[in-house]
Amino acid sequence: MIDGRAAAARLRARLRDLVMEFGPTQDLAPGLAVVQVGDNPASSVYVRGKARATVEVGMKSMEHKLPEDVSESALLALIRRLNDDPAVHGFLVQLPLPARIRPQAVVDAIDPAKDVDGFHPLNVGRLVSGGEGLVPCTPQGCLMLIRDSLDRLAGQEAVVLGRSNIVGKPMAALLLREDCTVTTIHTKSRDLAQHCRRADILVVAAGRAGLVRGDWIKPGAVVIDVGMNRGVDADGKPLLLGDVDFDEAMDVAGAITPVPGGVGPMTIACLLRNTMIAYCRQRGLPAPEI
Ligand code: NAP
Repeated sequence: MIDGRAAAARLRARLRDLVMEFGPTQDLAPGLAVVQVGDNPASSVYVRGKARATVEVGMKSMEHKLPEDVSESALLALIRRLNDDPAVHGFLVQLPLPARIRPQAVVDAIDPAKDVDGFHPLNVGRLVSGGEGLVPCTPQGCLMLIRDSLDRLAGQEAVVLGRSNIVGKPMAALLLREDCTVTTIHTKSRDLAQHCRRADILVVAAGRAGLVRGDWIKPGAVVIDVGMNRGVDADGKPLLLGDVDFDEAMDVAGAITPVPGGVGPMTIACLLRNTMIAYCRQRGLPAPEI
């Protein structure tokens, strides 16, 4: 079992040490701002979680809550202010946004150097073509968990189920950068199971509870389950379910992330990691080893 909570705690502890190390000599702590539009309850939970984690590692947390009916131009004006604010080293606009607001216009407006979600086209381009960008948090977290479980990634068969811009595509790009042989599969792929059975590394990000069965998994494979699906248990209590049938997969996989407690905790920790990287670059400090 891959313990994502423990891995995330180790990463946060390392970040806290780095903030301390810079603290006495730097007049400015790393600052992370989160912009939330409206009052989506799930978004509010995420935003609170991010703020708590930011403060815990000694960084400065800033929240900007805008009303549901805010105009796109007012949101873009706030983004320009955050781009120019030297106390803000990284920021993100919490998704989803109201339908009136074009998400791509919002992402395009963020200074790529402060784009801690790693969604700006320049950062996407750098991930694919090489160079120093900021990498999306969830795939970065998955990669760190894979590295903890496997000595050598080069040459491994990696299969990524899902091709979204925030998980599947950057995950595939990261694994390719690690010299894996990468296959991306999706709803139009033929025989998903056959592809999965070849995988030494299987990353599943489909958003379909229990899609991947035990007999889809190669014995000994590293299985990373990104899925977060809301369900209920036999007593009607709310339950978080992964995309992999965990009980079946446990018997076959060499290492597997549970849901919850696997990828989820790494996502926020990697957001703080990106903030630290952005801070060091903006202040001309040496790249931190994290
Ligand atoms: P998404 O944008 O809906 O993309 C899902 C991808 O999976 C699509 O590429 C889709 O293929 C593919 N897919 C869906 N059902 C499939 C099926 N039956 N067979 C084959 N492919 C299928 O979702 P996402 O944003 O990538 O998120 C995926 C899951 O990860 C969700 O459960 C989400 O909640 C979770 N998530 C977790 C974290 C975390 O921190 N733990 C972060 C982000 C997301 P097509 O492109 O062909 O439609």
